Amino acid sequence: MSSVNAALLESEEQRDLRAAVAALGKRYGRDYFTGVVRDGKHTDELWAEAASLGYLGVNLPEEYGGGGSGITELSIVLEELGAAGCPLLMLVVSPAICGTVIARFGTEAQKREWLPGLADGSRKMAFGITEPDAGSNSHRITTTARRDGDDWLLSGRKVFISGVDIADATLVVGRTEDARTGKLKPCLFIVPRDAAGFTRNPIEMELAAPEKQFELVLDDVRLPADALVGGGPSHAGGRGGEDAGLLQLFAGLNPERIMTAAFGIGMGRYALDQALDYARTRQVWKEPIGAHQAIAHPLAQAHIELELARLMTAKAAALYDAGDDMGAGEAANMAKYAAGEACVKAVDQAVHTLGGNGLTREYGLASLITAARVARIAPVSREMILNFVSHQSLGLPKSY
Ligand SMILES: Cc1cc2nc3c(=O)[nH]c(=O)nc-3n(C[C@H](O)[C@H](O)[C@H](O)COP(=O)(O)OP(=O)(O)OC[C@H]3O[C@@H](n4cnc5c(N)ncnc54)[C@H](O)[C@@H]3O)c2cc1C
Repeated sequence: MSSVNAALLESEEQRDLRAAVAALGKRYGRDYFTGVVRDGKHTDELWAEAASLGYLGVNLPEEYGGGGSGITELSIVLEELGAAGCPLLMLVVSPAICGTVIARFGTEAQKREWLPGLADGSRKMAFGITEPDAGSNSHRITTTARRDGDDWLLSGRKVFISGVDIADATLVVGRTEDARTGKLKPCLFIVPRDAAGFTRNPIEMELAAPEKQFELVLDDVRLPADALVGGGPSHAGGRGGEDAGLLQLFAGLNPERIMTAAFGIGMGRYALDQALDYARTRQVWKEPIGAHQAIAHPLAQAHIELELARLMTAKAAALYDAGDDMGAGEAANMAKYAAGEACVKAVDQAVHTLGGNGLTREYGLASLITAARVARIAPVSREMILNFVSHQSLGLPKSY
């Protein structure tokens, strides 16, 4: 980004943060990340160092150990680490979704219990909404909580839940028993990793990533009353509990989309940089291949589309941080869409630019082809965003 543009869009602190995170990412680099994946390990060293520098909890409230900034700053962290080849997927889930939901809607006890650990990186939280028979239609989720004295019993199944093995708990989206039909009346529970009746089965994915995805089976998982985010309908202030679930859920979903956009932009930038290095030096005719417009133009296009996605992501994050949840909703969806598409195209073109080397282990770009698709599919697919924009922004009728 040129300095004039940067000054218009980002404060000096944000630019400093971007530069500092980029430097951290560069010190680890892609070799570190692929080594971790190859050895079946996790990015613990990078996670710990980013935490100690205050990057992981940058969006969380200061009084609970966070940096007191916003999703803008957290998305800068994820984008720059991704651009260095080290995307930390759990940033999307742990501080962005779970941290936000607890900071905004948790009881005082929940905030004190979770936020300092999420902020200093010593604890992580996964997030589970997707179900096998609901998929994109979250109104159909059937994970159900029923009362048993003061406790809750939670039963259901989830799929594709990231990082459950390395998370201390999973924030599980269920519904209360009296809300079986009609519109989703969600409730969010903090389920500890070792809770009785809570089992996880890894799903074999074609992804070269340190974070694994899991099927979760919840079989009458007994949870105390205070596992419900907000603490239940009687919680003081009237913002807690069963009826507040939809608000809580939406509070987490905008950060999730903005962070997924940052994830896609970071990955797209990384791939594009590799392609540019190659195109500048690889020579099979009299000029380097980057001189051929058939190579240069698609790379230029990828750069433009990543920059556009970045702009929309900054807008969405700014709206969200300003407290405009409604405005942020449309922008966050658009940013996620734009970033997912830009990422997939940038990676595709990067692989193509390297010719046969695009598919070698040495250059390590081919595995990004599947990784990039995550930004198109999750947490909400390209088609569901087009549906959202068709209905909400353009006022067109629904087909479903
Ligand atoms: C790597 C990875 C990590 C993930 N991590 C998490 C996580 O941590 N927590 C979590 O809860 N979930 C997670 N997910 C799940 C993810 O959010 C879902 O995969 C996603 O929401 C899509 O749901 P689905 O896979 O059931 O697809 P489906 O809903 O079955 O959709 C299949 C296809 O049909 C299309 N489609 C569906 N409905 C419509 C419609 N009305 N109009 C047009 N097209 C439609 C979709 O766009 C898609 O192309 C993860 C997924 C992946 C791949």
